[in-house]
Amino acid sequence: MVRFTVLASGSRGNCTVLSGGRTRILVDAGLSCRELFRRMKLAGEEPATLNAIVITHEHQDHVNGLAVTARRLGIPVYFTEATHRAWMRWLQPRRQMSYAQWLEMVRKQAAERQAEPEAQENDPPDDPNGDDPGESAVENLVETAPASSDSALDPAPDPSSSRPPALKDDPTWLPAVEYFQPGEPFSIGDICLSPFTIPHDAADPVGFVFSSEGVRLGFATDLGYIPPNVREQLRDLDLLLLESNHDLEMLRDGPYPWSVKQRVLSRVGHLSNDAASAFLAEDYDGQAAYIILGHLSENNNLPELARVAAERALLGRASLLANRLLLAAQHEPLSAISF
Ligand SMILES: [Zn+2]
Ligand SMILES: [Zn+2]
Repeated sequence: MVRFTVLASGSRGNCTVLSGGRTRILVDAGLSCRELFRRMKLAGEEPATLNAIVITHEHQDHVNGLAVTARRLGIPVYFTEATHRAWMRWLQPRRQMSYAQWLEMVRKQAAERQAEPEAQENDPPDDPNGDDPGESAVENLVETAPASSDSALDPAPDPSSSRPPALKDDPTWLPAVEYFQPGEPFSIGDICLSPFTIPHDAADPVGFVFSSEGVRLGFATDLGYIPPNVREQLRDLDLLLLESNHDLEMLRDGPYPWSVKQRVLSRVGHLSNDAASAFLAEDYDGQAAYIILGHLSENNNLPELARVAAERALLGRASLLANRLLLAAQHEPLSAISF
């Protein structure tokens, strides 16, 4: 059985559980771990049965509870490499240095090096057989590794017995990290994932088509508009989760500062009710049994406005009356959808 449960959707946190065969994955971890587990239980899902976490992009509303949840469950996290790096930067922001500060730092380092010429004595000896210094360094590592348990002088810890670092010491530590690339499908257990690039102001944001047991589910939120590659992906689906972020008039007249309004409206911002319904009216192939509108703005949208816009688009096409339209909410899970 394939089951799709949206635990939360919106700018305060996004989280969805997807089960297929014997595999269960969490798509985004934008709620605190405690709230995430509470909602899973509320929705009849058991957190301990999750096999992996998959991240669409590094914005806070998609990763807020990531480190704690992955550590608590001891499960791998799937990212693109750029998203993983951006997430780590977010958790450990580097201080920007001025040129003068940098110069000072370089001078200090040079002075320290000159003061300690004996430090070179600790360098590993050159390998006479190795042309490539990198390779010989690796060989040195491999050769010395087995001896380490006998050597009282070697302080290297045994990796198998080392415990994960405390969250405050290394907030980026995860039990395991796997990289995927947009455009290259991959599998986690019984679920196949096809990630595709979406236009959004993050390092390497993706949407997904998930498939398992012959059921196909499309996942596209956090996108400024629907480019041809996304349109192409959102076909032959049994379920479509589509962003319907804001009502254009509410956003225009709403409380956000001008710069934020520009960001939301931009080609790398969020999809409006009008843009979502234009897709449904013109490009959508009508195959999905369920359409879920998601990532609704709490300030610049009303569920009824999003629903009416989408219904109008679907009603214009008589063949689509069988499509069930649902709205994902921010503060409570949507009932599980099973196939
Ligand atoms: Zn978001
Ligand atoms: Zn985002």
